[in-house]
Amino acid sequence: MRKLRVAAFMPHQDDMEALTGGTLLKYVQQGHHVDVVIAMDGRRGRGVLPENLTWQEIVALRKEEATRGASYLGVKPTFLGIEDHRLVDDRACYDTVINEMERLNPDVIFTTSPNDYHNDHRAISRLVVNVAWAPVFFSDTKASVNFIPDFYVDITQQFETKIKMLGEHASQLKPGWEELIGTVNRLRGIQCMKEEIKYAEGYQLYKRLNWVKGYELLPEDTFELPTQIVPTTERN
Ligand SMILES: [Zn+2]
Repeated sequence: MRKLRVAAFMPHQDDMEALTGGTLLKYVQQGHHVDVVIAMDGRRGRGVLPENLTWQEIVALRKEEATRGASYLGVKPTFLGIEDHRLVDDRACYDTVINEMERLNPDVIFTTSPNDYHNDHRAISRLVVNVAWAPVFFSDTKASVNFIPDFYVDITQQFETKIKMLGEHASQLKPGWEELIGTVNRLRGIQCMKEEIKYAEGYQLYKRLNWVKGYELLPEDTFELPTQIVPTTERN
């Protein structure tokens, strides 16, 4: 498989790990180049923060956490520093995202789903498809609401590290986070209907007028395609 330049454009500091952490780990393990871009500054994220922090202290803390999380990939994230809830389709935001996209020049892009639960997730998704011609995969939504994957990545071997990566975001993790992520990835694993796949991440490909070999752009697996047609009637 040729070596790909992979870029994840994610809204908040913990989204890369929660939504694409296993897949990005797998790319890195297979020798591909991975970049992580975090659009928002994180100042309004409601997590488990002490009351008395200023927004500048929150931004600094979340940068530290994201840097530690991405270090499992051997990657230093780029922070676009856009104020939370202020990512809109205007010239300034467009320029910020397109400049970063041009700098990274990826072969394949990951971002959040255009119908995800949070306005920043929807906004970065829209901007990414507007500025990029490379194939774009949308990650699963929070708790998989309104999301039916086109593609699955087996992350059974990466799941434990994904949870550690996500655990670096202590200021954002509300009780039950591990169960939520584990349940979503387990459900996607079950949908693969292969005993050896315990955990998976699901993706949709952004469809437009070009031909994309979806699975050839995702991390490689060795599973065989089904070759038999199951008979539905008895023949004499
Ligand atoms: Zn988010």
